[in-house]
Amino acid sequence: MDFTDFTLSEEILSTLASLQYQHPTEVQRKVIPLVIEERDVIVKSRTGSGKTASFAIPICEMIDWTENKPQALVLTPTRELAVQIKEDFINIGRLKRINAVEVYGKQSFMYQKTKLKQKTHVVVGTPGRLLDHIQKGTLLLDQVRFLVIDEADEMLNMGFIEQVEAIIQAVPDKRITMLFSATLPDTVKKLAQNYLQGPVEVEI
Ligand code: AMP
Repeated sequence: MDFTDFTLSEEILSTLASLQYQHPTEVQRKVIPLVIEERDVIVKSRTGSGKTASFAIPICEMIDWTENKPQALVLTPTRELAVQIKEDFINIGRLKRINAVEVYGKQSFMYQKTKLKQKTHVVVGTPGRLLDHIQKGTLLLDQVRFLVIDEADEMLNMGFIEQVEAIIQAVPDKRITMLFSATLPDTVKKLAQNYLQGPVEVEI
């Protein structure tokens, strides 16, 4: 199977070719078509499987460049992951000139506020700092149509449940929600039950 078998634009296909992504990985084969069909997904999969591109590719495909406010929000447990995921969005969205911004604790709030004021299509962040920006009005969510909850088990293990729920509740209901987790303990299943709509479960 090849990326050209998906309904993807020339811009995205040519970017994937330049990144030397020749064939989709298993998680990408399963998740990309579901997101393009606007289904919610629960994905049990580990880092290293190509899971970041499995959500970044369809999101970049569907982003409207002309909209100034964020359209995609990605929650992730650590600063390192936030930076990595931001880089993947920038790379995959390069020809569409998609702008992605990362926010996390222990970095200047004012600096992040300035970055968020620019045209931003995708925001990636750790729960505490994301919530801080939402509550202070420096991150507007009214145009968010894609919500990714990455490494859900890790985020809940780190005690972020309240922040994660508060953020999800602040995102418009009309959206596509993608939950990724290496394991599916009851806490993660409950989160999915409460906030995903008729999700398709994918196990890698
Ligand atoms: P991830 O599981 O998202 O951390 O991705 C693991 C690594 O695989 C990253 O370095 C990606 O750049 C790379 N990668 C993701 N998808 C593909 C693909 N289809 N072909 C080749 N490399 C890929």
